[in-house]
Amino acid sequence: MPLSSASGRQRLIFFTSYAAQSRGWVYAERHDEAPTMKCRQCKSGVLGEAAYVREFYPGRLRVAVVLLQSVCDSCGHTRTLSAQHDENLRRLAARKSAYGDVLMGEDYIALRKRHSLTRPQMARVLGVSIRTYTRYENEDAYPVKSTRLLIELAIGKPEVLHFLADKADLALGLREEC
Ligand SMILES: [Zn+2]
Repeated sequence: MPLSSASGRQRLIFFTSYAAQSRGWVYAERHDEAPTMKCRQCKSGVLGEAAYVREFYPGRLRVAVVLLQSVCDSCGHTRTLSAQHDENLRRLAARKSAYGDVLMGEDYIALRKRHSLTRPQMARVLGVSIRTYTRYENEDAYPVKSTRLLIELAIGKPEVLHFLADKADLALGLREEC
């Protein structure tokens, strides 16, 4: 269950009680109860679980999600185990609760993939540059309200995306019919 605290416009969400720094590695520790796993890279070190913070800035909020990785205590090689990957996806999805009307990068990716579009094609459909569209997916930027509303409409109604694709002279496959 996420722990959250709100103060003014800033809202931090931590999904664990780790005292997180704003960036970079927060801590690395080995769990005694966990089976030790040898590093594949240097073959001498042992992997320990490490947390790091990924930050997002939707609607002028600051949302920090603590994510997990394994790091070698000898060579520093990092690796995300499949259980950590699954947990990270769960934590990232849970940040939606802090977003309000703002869409997550994953929402753009899901819409694009549902219609089997590439990033350049999706940029063309929305009438923005590839660079700008990529920033939406990475959440380096959030679109203006009109673009966001258009995307929301396209998420709810596939025919809206078909309409936009037609306008952009883009033929969509029939794969998205479902
Ligand atoms: Zn190593």
